[in-house]
Amino acid sequence: METFLTLAWVIAGVLFISSLRGLAHQETARRGNGYGVAGMVIGIAAILLSGVAENLVPLVGALVIGATVGGVMAQRVAMTAMPEMVAILHSFVGLAAVLVGLAAYLDPPQGHAGMAHSIEIWIDVLIGAITFTGSIIAFFKLRGTMSGRPLLLPGRHALNLLVFLASLALCVPFVMAEGTAGLPFLLIMTVLAGLQGIHLVAAIGGADMPVVVSMLNSYSGWTASAAGFMLNNNLLIITGALVGSSGAILSYIMCKAMNRSLVSVIFGGFGAAPVASSGPAQVPEGEVVATSIEELAAEINESREVIIVPGYGMAVARAQHAVRQLVDVLKAKGIRTRFAIHPVAGRLPGHMNVLLAEASVPYDIVMEMDEINEDFPKTDVVLVIGANDIVNPSAQTDPSSPIAGMPVLEVWKAKRTVVLKRSRASGYAGVDNPLFYHENTRMLFADAKDGMEKLVAKLQG
Ligand code: NDP
Repeated sequence: METFLTLAWVIAGVLFISSLRGLAHQETARRGNGYGVAGMVIGIAAILLSGVAENLVPLVGALVIGATVGGVMAQRVAMTAMPEMVAILHSFVGLAAVLVGLAAYLDPPQGHAGMAHSIEIWIDVLIGAITFTGSIIAFFKLRGTMSGRPLLLPGRHALNLLVFLASLALCVPFVMAEGTAGLPFLLIMTVLAGLQGIHLVAAIGGADMPVVVSMLNSYSGWTASAAGFMLNNNLLIITGALVGSSGAILSYIMCKAMNRSLVSVIFGGFGAAPVASSGPAQVPEGEVVATSIEELAAEINESREVIIVPGYGMAVARAQHAVRQLVDVLKAKGIRTRFAIHPVAGRLPGHMNVLLAEASVPYDIVMEMDEINEDFPKTDVVLVIGANDIVNPSAQTDPSSPIAGMPVLEVWKAKRTVVLKRSRASGYAGVDNPLFYHENTRMLFADAKDGMEKLVAKLQG
């Protein structure tokens, strides 16, 4: 049985690594997902067949209920609500880690006892409890049920340190206790860690919440890894380490793209108000000039190079299919058309890539920011569809702006920039956008889907 399990863990581990590799590129993402599913099926099947449980009925029952609820949730969730769904799923991982940790303490797996086992349980439950409560707060903040404003208690860093030290201090009598006599210490620590999870995430502003979700993803990986040591399960160790490190890397990439420091995001207090304070935010000068579908169609017909910049508004309006039709029309007219994708366009990493892939936009015309940013000056028309912060020049020019220093797509350098959105309203960061007042800019006030469909009809007609 030991050999059978080892073999199953190795195969599943390789499948999980292949899954991550596959998910790194759009062309292979579907296959990557398939590898992940296969690895999971092997892992679950191996456990069921290993004789670990005498009665399989509750295990299979829980599997069926879990898979049904998960399947329905995944079917129903809108792309824009994905971060909150991920947050609530992480809370389940945290809760599971706490429960498994408590169970492993009360009824240790064979051959597992002593100090090392107690320390593994301690780490598992500590990170699990923080992940559990932290993820619930992140879920409520993302849903808007809780205010996005950071809760800034006086001396909050000292408070965090104090709670952490208290948890550490409780570890000593817990590890020293005979049998299960250390249970009260473990339970007190669980409550403290749960409170710390609430406090840590409550202190972070709504604007930074997706980074926090990615950090909690990382925590959930590490807690799974700790559970792997605790239960002597190599697959959990491998999977946990993969999730833990990829979540941490993703958080780093997101922070870089938003010009935030990872440490300040984790310890909170940011995302509430402008970060820099070297004076009041600059008010844009100039005039906003509106355009019409007819005027835009005429300009596009005259052009040879078009770049489309999609943003959150394209996702909300579900305009990606109409955008795909536009690409087909432009291609038929011999106009070179490409997409410029900002790393944090939309509300989750890869948001725009997923939507464009869903609409079957060819991958080779979807360019990353670094690949295309220098091409704007030689572009005839840039069409910004429901994007705002990612094309805001004040990130480069206004040090007092909350998005100062964030890398942006330099769309204002094109011969003509048309911004398609419903109003002059600001985007996620809540800041005014001088792009709207730029002399080369025209505003097309419309819903992204409706506007796109009308533009396609006009260009075809
Ligand atoms: P923004 O949120 O800056 O702007 C989106 C714009 O879309 C709004 O100004 C809105 O204007 C417009 N819009 C909304 N609905 C529609 C509609 N139906 N039709 C047309 N337009 C619409 O989005 P960006 O993509 O430019 O920037 C992403 C922001 O999210 C950045 O600030 C980024 O830091 C942040 N963020 C991104 C994360 C990620 O991982 N991608 C994670 C965390 C934060 P109007 O109401 O006038 O129509």
